[in-house]
Amino acid sequence: MGKSIFGAMVSLFLLSLVAVWINMSFIQYGVMEPLRSAHLLLAMLGMGFFLVQFVLSSRIKWIERGFGLDKMLWYHRWFGRVATGFLFLHFSLVLALDFSRGTAPILDGHRAYGLAALGIILVTASVASLHKWMGLRYETWKGIHLVNYVAFPLALVHIMLNPAQRGAPVWGGFAFAYAFLIAYRIYMIYVLRKNPYVVVGVTSENSDTWTLRFAGRPLKYLPGQFLHVQLHRRDGVSSSHPFTISSSPTEKLLGITPKASGDFTSTIGETEIGDQAYIDAPYGVFSFLRVPENRPLVFIAGGIGITPFLSMLRYMRDRQIDREVYLFWGNRTENNLFSRGELAKMEEQLPRLKVILVMSGQPDWVGKEGHIDLDLLTGYLGDLSPMEFFLCGPPPMTRAIEKQLADYGVSRAQVHREVFEL
Ligand SMILES: Cc1cc2nc3c(=O)[nH]c(=O)nc-3n(C[C@H](O)[C@H](O)[C@H](O)COP(=O)(O)OP(=O)(O)OC[C@H]3O[C@@H](n4cnc5c(N)ncnc54)[C@H](O)[C@@H]3O)c2cc1C
Repeated sequence: MGKSIFGAMVSLFLLSLVAVWINMSFIQYGVMEPLRSAHLLLAMLGMGFFLVQFVLSSRIKWIERGFGLDKMLWYHRWFGRVATGFLFLHFSLVLALDFSRGTAPILDGHRAYGLAALGIILVTASVASLHKWMGLRYETWKGIHLVNYVAFPLALVHIMLNPAQRGAPVWGGFAFAYAFLIAYRIYMIYVLRKNPYVVVGVTSENSDTWTLRFAGRPLKYLPGQFLHVQLHRRDGVSSSHPFTISSSPTEKLLGITPKASGDFTSTIGETEIGDQAYIDAPYGVFSFLRVPENRPLVFIAGGIGITPFLSMLRYMRDRQIDREVYLFWGNRTENNLFSRGELAKMEEQLPRLKVILVMSGQPDWVGKEGHIDLDLLTGYLGDLSPMEFFLCGPPPMTRAIEKQLADYGVSRAQVHREVFEL
């Protein structure tokens, strides 16, 4: 729903930019003008795509729910590239027009703003594409990325100061939409800060994984969805991190289960009862409640990717939902496991649940060994075509299984993936 409405809105928005440009150039200035003012169209489309980027990153729930996080990030990446491309072409065409008039390009006031904006956009786009290769910390490249919030107003100033400026209503609309999005983000931060949750439980699950439990205002969510949390501890307020809600909507407390994988997650064990948490939720589309009820469910988890399945199974247990469910949980050794007793008990409480633990690095393991792959799945399940697959784990693992399922002939619509990476 959200996806089609959003797609229609973006298409309409971009088409109206083209219509405005045709009206402004062709109708008002004659047949040759569209060619001469093509740079204007490039600027409008570039700024249009740029503006959509702020919509996509404003955590507007109905938009995120329509897409799912991974598709939304895909659009964010591609719209970013398209916006950069249009704006760079705009710049190149303006330069070419200068040369075609036999004059050297001039760097006057309004152009300086445009150049500054384009410089920021090019740097942030390059960093976004190359941050892994450059080995940048998440916080570092995200900080650099946020400078785009300065680039957009700079570009607007560049436009407004242009003595030959045309299309004031369009640019005014852009400025208004941008200001609205900024105000929305600030308001959301204010709302979250005004309604903090309180940490009421810190449980060590194994050597590097903890469950935090929060009390606070009741939250409506689907099992499998995720939240963004900032912990307010003695050392201050952390940056915002996404975590699956590992508790079930049937429980009173909200739970997350982070595994130590970096600067922030390795400090989770230092969280104390009474610390505060600013929680923005729910997000995500990874839930068995969103697929047809008659299909057997195959849950495939790698390591900490178990968390959405814990939430879904807890929900099924509490609501006594009798469905055919197979949970494959891959880990290196059994030391990585947790909630093992609870899962064993769930197998008794949910008659059609089967839990299959798979170890890739423990020769003395008495269960399934190796990696979760097509052979293991077909060996255990037989015909895969009527099943609904949910994958959550390290991206190389989920990508490999997704490909094997596609080669087998399982349709893309039957495969759902949660990525633990932004
Ligand atoms: C939808 C979703 C659900 C998740 N659920 C869980 C879960 O249930 N349990 C769990 O252990 N982990 C989960 N994660 C992963 C978790 O968010 C990261 O492990 C955590 O943010 C890493 O932070 P760090 O500073 O400890 O690690 P770092 O070493 O700084 O980063 C490791 C990687 O984590 C990601 N990351 C780091 N900081 C952030 C941030 N502020 N926002 C977003 N991503 C970041 C980046 O991809 C980075 O490369 C989930 C991620 C997503 C997107």
